[in-house]
Amino acid sequence: MHTPLKLKTIHTLICSLLLLLSAAVQAQARPTVVTSIKPIHSLVSAVMQGVAEPHLLVEGAGSPHGYALKPSQANLLMDADLVFWVAPTLESFLAKPLQTLATKAEVVTLLASPGLRTHTKRNALHQHDEHEDENDHVGGLHDLDPHFWLDPINAHSLIAEISRILSTHDPINAAIYNANARRLQAELLRLTEEVRAILHSVQPQPYMVFHDAYQYFARRFQMPAVGVITLNPEVQPSIIEMQRAQQNVRGQGVVCVFVEPQFPPALVRMVREGSDARIRVLDPLGATLQPGSDLYFTLIRVMARAMRDCLNEKRLDPVGE
Ligand SMILES: [Zn+2]
Repeated sequence: MHTPLKLKTIHTLICSLLLLLSAAVQAQARPTVVTSIKPIHSLVSAVMQGVAEPHLLVEGAGSPHGYALKPSQANLLMDADLVFWVAPTLESFLAKPLQTLATKAEVVTLLASPGLRTHTKRNALHQHDEHEDENDHVGGLHDLDPHFWLDPINAHSLIAEISRILSTHDPINAAIYNANARRLQAELLRLTEEVRAILHSVQPQPYMVFHDAYQYFARRFQMPAVGVITLNPEVQPSIIEMQRAQQNVRGQGVVCVFVEPQFPPALVRMVREGSDARIRVLDPLGATLQPGSDLYFTLIRVMARAMRDCLNEKRLDPVGE
């Protein structure tokens, strides 16, 4: 005969055992997720909120166009179940390690995601092409401009895909991924409206950027750049590119030149020589921002405000006085 007390003890014991077991199953089921750059890490983090934190490879001010993998990161890739990256044309440093190290991982090339609005890579130094199609899918992945995340509507499309892939690897937490994804999508739509409002007062004026990373942002919000300083951000701009940029700034009446955090100050001075152009910084990778689920939103907001503040400054200048 069991006394009620004993029964209660056995019951408690069984319950705690079950709890332990399910915790073990959950811990085991949780996938090791690796992401390449901060904006992608931010979106994946936001979908995984309440479950786990994804790992980030390119931290600090590193540029994915020329990055070297650390030994600890090589180990991480070997353990990875899932890797989210943009494409071989952006994180070129990752192409080989993904093949040789991340052998047990599902590698998700986000540039190839369904529903993404992509644009082709541009080849001219200064191109102001208004007749190009909104959606150009000619050619393969290699011909696409990889900086798709700078269009928040693309981030919105991606969220569903990230959530779907996480859920297949980790069905136990699928409901959490799903709920996070829906909340995020609503926030991304609000962000898009917020940026429209920030840029509403901006008069179209010629501006230049460091490398051709901004056509997604520029097309979404209808404010195209008139030129870029360099076509290949993996190497420092050549003297010829610098001189061409300088001529461009003067010749096209460029009012703002947007460089990037890693751009050497000496080159900045050279670009604006002989002109009144203002030099400001845009940070398309969030190199100067703290990684995390909020980074993406901050990155887009800060970019919109930097553009507005620089382009609007001219209208306050005393003209003809
Ligand atoms: Zn880039």
